Amino acid sequence: MPQGLLTIDLGAIVRNWRKLGAIHSSGAVAGVVKADAYGLGAAQVAPALRAAGCKHFFVAQTEEGVRLRQSLGEGPMIAVLGGGAGPREAGLTPVLNTFDEIRAHRGPAILQLDTGMARLGLDASELESLARDPSPFEGVELLYVMTHLAVADEPSHPLNARQAERFAEACGRLPPAPRSFANSSGIFLGDRFASDLARPGCALYGINPTPGHPNPMEPVVRLEIPVLQVRSIEPGQTVGYGASWTAARPTRVATISAGYADGLPRAIDGRAKGVIRGATVPMIGRVSMDLITLDVTDVPEAAPGDMIELLGPAQDADALAGLCGTIGYEILTSLGNRYERRYLPA
Ligand SMILES: *Cc1c(COP(=O)(O)O)cnc(C)c1O
Repeated sequence: MPQGLLTIDLGAIVRNWRKLGAIHSSGAVAGVVKADAYGLGAAQVAPALRAAGCKHFFVAQTEEGVRLRQSLGEGPMIAVLGGGAGPREAGLTPVLNTFDEIRAHRGPAILQLDTGMARLGLDASELESLARDPSPFEGVELLYVMTHLAVADEPSHPLNARQAERFAEACGRLPPAPRSFANSSGIFLGDRFASDLARPGCALYGINPTPGHPNPMEPVVRLEIPVLQVRSIEPGQTVGYGASWTAARPTRVATISAGYADGLPRAIDGRAKGVIRGATVPMIGRVSMDLITLDVTDVPEAAPGDMIELLGPAQDADALAGLCGTIGYEILTSLGNRYERRYLPA
């Protein structure tokens, strides 16, 4: 079966990184490339960022860091957000999240403080005892103290200011060290959220870090799926599983070669659209595992072999996500491995 084509614009990722750097002028800007660079390919994305001057990378798990080191070679920092104290041997920088991890570690590391996420990092009482007795820190070289914002995509939420206060206060009680604060959305929150190292992920990949406002980032992803067959059906005929869609007029149905196994959520049934030969056409019927159907009645030239764009300027990952109650991050990280991937060079 012909494959879909996923085009990833490395140049756009690099320009997005530079744009974030221009806004976050207080310090450096890292590249968060966990989950295979949000599904887009860390082995391609990270070297492109590295060539543009990015010196700090974040992944979630040790194995991701080990693979990333192979792609990047020696030099840039690769920090592991949830790797525990171990990954030093692999040339990785651990993010220390607990007392035990601090005690077990020697050498360079990042310390994470929890200021409102209740997920990873030291809480207020652990910080208190560390401020009183810093001996667990012996031998730990603090590269950064970091914390993570919970609601940076909602600028008016009071938790943002509270996290900024807690972070500033906590850093004041620790040995002096550079700070790392904002994620993508945090970079757009203003000076209180600036630090020595911002940690954007989603904005690099074209996801809107300022929901409700025009997307300041350049689009990165285009997904086009080939038409396998075009058929004509009569009014009253149904399309797909569950016979959930019924033709109200003589209809031409295009069947394309991707489905929920390729990260196109079944929950977008009947709501998403595609673009074929410059025309926008509606999805009809259920999303199957490997197939999706669209109504191409109004595009008489539509034929097998045509590509129908499902992700692109007309419908980006945020828009597709909005149709089915998820977020652009989940759309990108779910894209799967059945597409031919084409990388536009930086
Ligand atoms: C994922 C993650 C980021 C990046 O967040 P975005 O919203 O994608 O910019 C930054 N810091 C931490 C701790 C993370 O887990």
